[in-house]
Amino acid sequence: MIYLDNNATTRVAPEVFEAMQPYLTDFFGNPSSAHTLGRTMKQAVEQAREHVAKLIGADDMSEITFTSCGSESDNWAIRAALASQPGKKHIVTTRVEHEAVRNVCRQLETEGYEVTSLDVNASGELNLDALRDALRADTALVSVMLANNETGVLFPINDIGEIVRERSDALFHVDGVQAVGKIPIDLMNVDLFALSGHKLHAPQGIGALYIRKGVSLPSFIIGGAQEHGRRAGTSAVPNIVGLGAACKLAHEDDDHSRIRALRDRLENGILQQIPNTRVNGHPENRLPNTSNISFEYIEGQNILLHLDQLGICVSTGSACHSTTHESSPTLHAMNIPYTAAQGSIRFSLGRYNTDEDIETTLSVLPGIIEKLAAMSPYDQELHANT
Ligand code: PLP
Repeated sequence: MIYLDNNATTRVAPEVFEAMQPYLTDFFGNPSSAHTLGRTMKQAVEQAREHVAKLIGADDMSEITFTSCGSESDNWAIRAALASQPGKKHIVTTRVEHEAVRNVCRQLETEGYEVTSLDVNASGELNLDALRDALRADTALVSVMLANNETGVLFPINDIGEIVRERSDALFHVDGVQAVGKIPIDLMNVDLFALSGHKLHAPQGIGALYIRKGVSLPSFIIGGAQEHGRRAGTSAVPNIVGLGAACKLAHEDDDHSRIRALRDRLENGILQQIPNTRVNGHPENRLPNTSNISFEYIEGQNILLHLDQLGICVSTGSACHSTTHESSPTLHAMNIPYTAAQGSIRFSLGRYNTDEDIETTLSVLPGIIEKLAAMSPYDQELHANT
């Protein structure tokens, strides 16, 4: 198998698995228990918290709260930020957010909130003047992603946070799920920051929310006093240890220049060998591992299936759209023409990809596209007109 779908999820790193193993066998206690076993578990949780804090540059490890996933972190951040400012009913976000933010905002509209969704340009970038204009005295929250899951395009969260502070007293939430472990994180102007373990070689089912010191949020899950009373529920110690180990690994062993070189080799090879291809998203201002390429006039789903038959895993836009034929909202917001958006494939690389993976993919893709192009009604129309 050649796995080029690392923005969907990642393989658990051997170092992470090794760190978790004792907590799935001998160390099975509850970290809230007062006995030695419980205290050992608690120590492991706190060590993991330290690794997470270090990777994202939090000032203090108490600013990290463990959750079950990125979606929970995003939901909690948004709902709790609004609950803590009951008089304010305005939210600013963007048109290209992940469903974990977009669908919450959509629901909030039905609950009486006004949501301003900022546009992006053809490269997927935000217009900061539009952000300035959108901020109001009753803006409770600004919620934007750091890295787009489909195109990898990065939003300048430092500048955005500065504008939010200058122009309003809204809280600033960043969905950092796709960025953590791939690029350095700067939390200087950020109040709330969501991350998810399974995007950086920790297991599925663990996430975290950074809550800046001084920001007080109501709990999302009510119950016991775990996580300093911020998030009830017995801690998922093996997963928490896994997230800590993954953060440590990402901090100590950053091989993103290698991954970027592989991504560029793949991308340039495709653009050179295959006609009617284009990269969606800003060529430089994006994650080093992501390449979203449109194979115009060809159905992306068909490309995915042909690659899958050869053991090559990719996705069409966001994995969440893989069962529908709607164009992805992100590509739609970028004004990518329908025939190109439908033919978009997201290649997302990771630490276990090799030169050979890229060469193999480049050796089979032109043949697949040639075959599908011959069957494409658009392509036949194109040739009939030339
Ligand atoms: N935010 C972004 C940008 C994502 O890409 C994802 C997952 O794909 C999420 C949030 C949700 O994270 P999780 O799958 O951990 O719930």
